[in-house]
Amino acid sequence: MVMDRSERQTSFLAQQPQAEPVLISACLLGIPCRWHGRRAKKREKLIAMLKRKYVLVPICPEQLGGMPTPRTGEMLHGTGAQVLDEGLRIIAPETGEDVTAFHVRGAQYSLEIAQIVGARRAYLKGGSPSCDRDGVTGELLRRGGVKVIRLG
Ligand code: SF4
Repeated sequence: MVMDRSERQTSFLAQQPQAEPVLISACLLGIPCRWHGRRAKKREKLIAMLKRKYVLVPICPEQLGGMPTPRTGEMLHGTGAQVLDEGLRIIAPETGEDVTAFHVRGAQYSLEIAQIVGARRAYLKGGSPSCDRDGVTGELLRRGGVKVIRLG
């Protein structure tokens, strides 16, 4: 049987070995998505090591949740679990605005992305109210069966 172009492409792709997809905080890749809008130093060695084994899928939960860049820089005075289960609020210190919903929505979209691409692990930036392993996104990903590795 003669295959058309589309069938040949599908067949070719099916034969390729597939690297495992993993989520990674976009700022670790040098993407300027941090609250103040400046780039973090790109983690070249880490990226090179991870790329040997995985397909990196960058996420910034705070942007995904609808926050602008630059944006307010808040701290999590507790854990993501407390936000999700106990009504702990995340308040922007500069404005007094309750930004909890942005963080929760970003966590939900991050989990959705993990499920779409089939990611079973996530490398997340520590010290962030969203991305930390105990942040809102870290917590929701773990509840969704994604192993979260915290990077300082
Ligand atoms: Fe980086 Fe995560 Fe903060 Fe986005 S939410 S800037 S990816 S630590």
